[in-house]
Amino acid sequence: MARAFVIGHPIAHSKSPVIHRFWLDALGIEGSSYEAIDVAPGDLEGFIARLREGAFAGGNVTIPHKEAVLALCDDLDPLARRIGAVNTLVATSGRVMGHNTDCPGFLANLDTGAPGWSQGLERAIVLGAGGAARAIIVALIERGVPEIVILNRSPDRAHGLARELGAGRQGVAADGLEAYESLAPGTGLLVNTTAIGMGGSRFDALDPARLGQDAVVNDIVYTPLETELLQAAHRAGKRTVDGLGMLLHQAVPGFAAWFGQTPQVTPALRDAVLAAMGDKN
Ligand code: NAP
Repeated sequence: MARAFVIGHPIAHSKSPVIHRFWLDALGIEGSSYEAIDVAPGDLEGFIARLREGAFAGGNVTIPHKEAVLALCDDLDPLARRIGAVNTLVATSGRVMGHNTDCPGFLANLDTGAPGWSQGLERAIVLGAGGAARAIIVALIERGVPEIVILNRSPDRAHGLARELGAGRQGVAADGLEAYESLAPGTGLLVNTTAIGMGGSRFDALDPARLGQDAVVNDIVYTPLETELLQAAHRAGKRTVDGLGMLLHQAVPGFAAWFGQTPQVTPALRDAVLAAMGDKN
C-alpha cells in the first residue's frame, strides 16, 4: 500500500490524478492512493518534511513549486539538476529524491508519435524559453541533435537559456521569433513550448509549410489538442505530434517508483484524460 500526491497552488486543474488513478485501477492495485493536495508556497518545506518522515511514497510537483522544491530535496537526479526543476519526488529511507521526468516524457512522446524523428535531424527549433523549454532543450541535447535554436518573444531570455544549457557544447543558439522565416527551410523539428496555442491563440507569422520537407511539428500545448500550429502543419503535409502524450509519458517513472509496477500509455488512458478535459477531439 502506497500513498502518492500531486502538489501545486492551485491544484484543481491537474490531470495527474486522472492518469495515476486510471493506472491504479487498470493494474488492480488496491489500497494505494493518489491525491491532489493544494500546498501554498509557505507550506512547501513542511510538506517535504512530512514526505521525508514517510507520510507518502512520493508524488508530483507542479506550478509554482517545480523550482523551489529543488533546494528542499536531499538528492537530485542529474537531469533535474541540469534542468533546474523537479516534477517528481520519491521518498525512500528518510530521504527525498527529486527527478525531472518531463525530459524523458517529451522524448517518449516523439518516439511514439513520429518514430525515427531524430535520425538525420540537423536542426531543431524550440519556440519559447520558459520552464518547459528547459526540459525540452536538455532532452534534445541528450538525443544528440546537432543544432538547436531557441526562438523567443523576449530574445534575451532565449540567449540566457542557450548560454546556460548549451555551455561547453556547440550548436545551441538563440534569437527572436522573427528569425523563424530564414531558419525554417533547414529545420527538421519544430517544438512549441510557449503558451501560444492555448484557448485557440495563434502565432501571427509562423508558417510550418516553410519547414524542411520531412519536418515534424510538436506542440506541447494540449488545450486544445489540435492547436492552430498543428492544424497548419497538418495542412502543409508535415508529421504532427500533440502535447498530451508528453503529459502521459512523464507520469510513467513516478508511478513505477511509488507503486512498483511500470504502467503503459494506452489509447484508453488517453481517452480517459480527454474525457476529464471535456474534449474528445
Ligand atoms: P512559462 O515558463 O511561463 O513560459 C512561457 C513561454 O511562452 C515564454 O517563452 C514566453 O515568452 C512565451 N509566451 C507567452 N505568451 C506569449 C505570447 N503572447 N507571444 C509569444 N510568446 C509568448 O511557461 P511553461 O511552464 O514553459 O509552459 C508553457 C506551455 O507548455 C504551457 O501552455 C503549458 O501548459 C505547456 N506544458 C505542457 C507540458 C506537457 O506535458 N505537454 C508540460 C509542461 C508545460 P517570454 O519569455 O517572451 O515571456
